[in-house]
Amino acid sequence: MRRLDLRKTQAARLNTIRDINRQIVLNYVREREPISRAEIARETDLQRSTISAIVEALTAEGLVEEVGEGESTGGRRPTLLKLRTKEAIAVGVAITPSCTTIASSDLAGRIIEREEFQTDADPVKTLKEIVSLIKQSSARNKGSIEAVGVSLPGLVDPSTGNAVYVPYFKWRDIPVAKTISAAIGLPVIIDNDANAVALAELWFGRPEVSDARDFILVLVAEGVGTGIIFDGQVYRGQRGAAGEFGHMVIGTQAPVPCSCGNSDCWEAFSSERAALARYVALSGEAPGTHFGFRELVDQALRGEPHAKMALIETAHYLGVGISNLVVGFSPEAVVVGGEIARAWSLIKDALMDTMEHSVRRGLASAQIMPSTLGEKPELRGALSLVLASKFAAAFAA
Ligand SMILES: [Zn+2]
Repeated sequence: MRRLDLRKTQAARLNTIRDINRQIVLNYVREREPISRAEIARETDLQRSTISAIVEALTAEGLVEEVGEGESTGGRRPTLLKLRTKEAIAVGVAITPSCTTIASSDLAGRIIEREEFQTDADPVKTLKEIVSLIKQSSARNKGSIEAVGVSLPGLVDPSTGNAVYVPYFKWRDIPVAKTISAAIGLPVIIDNDANAVALAELWFGRPEVSDARDFILVLVAEGVGTGIIFDGQVYRGQRGAAGEFGHMVIGTQAPVPCSCGNSDCWEAFSSERAALARYVALSGEAPGTHFGFRELVDQALRGEPHAKMALIETAHYLGVGISNLVVGFSPEAVVVGGEIARAWSLIKDALMDTMEHSVRRGLASAQIMPSTLGEKPELRGALSLVLASKFAAAFAA
């Protein structure tokens, strides 16, 4: 799915590329709502009659609706358009090593309801629970749900819908999409968590990110994953296996083993698990079962010195890996997502100091910034797998 670059798009005038114009109009409504037909005409050079015909079709499809009237610029007050958000159309399922979150959202990505359960390492049990919750959600929404997106912490083949390898649970070749789809009778799209979050940044992130054609999303969770956006779409590589930078070697004697079993991977130095292990070593106290990474961030933000130190040290290693990515890819931006983004004020200096020591010191470099997707970016990612397909350019898929 390729995101249109509105800055570079010239309205197509040929009938055969009517679909392109449809995507242009839909994306103007999405990005600038509420917007009038006249404004779209001014920005795109499309004929008013063409826009009206497209809007009529989009309205009939339930994608766009009219909302009130805008300011008059002389004549009649223009009718404004926005995305139709009367009902839930997507369900997102974020499977993470600790819990699985299921939520429904409208076309604009607003979450309507969400539920959570503890992920079972047995894929049969976890998939059964997912199916049961989707069925309930679908019934409550009286059939308005159109498709389901699933994000997974591992290697995924989106073309087959299989989880190829999920290290935390030792899942191998699990037909996730097929199993869920057969049970609920809806299309299911699955992807790796970091790819899904990168897609969410591309469509729903802050403008500096969503307008960038090339950026890297670093997802810090129980593991560390990266999603690469290249020319406005997710770069997948051979069999969808690109972006496994969490397993690049950046040192020796990490505080925790990597999910792959090695102890020299970036993930073993920079994940939430690594930060928690550092906190335990520094404070000398073993955290209870209710003390997780979220609590560590809370403590650090309250000024607890061991928690702060654990995060700052983790940020240093995060910066080492990001430096390597920036040297290799020279992206416009690097976005850091996950709970750690909440502690940006504490970790920013350590990250930047490390970056400054890289070979690119003194040169203009990628902007490094925290994700604005909020908590549970994996869930936003799972929903985006469905929503982006509505807005993406089918002709460039
Ligand atoms: Zn590894």
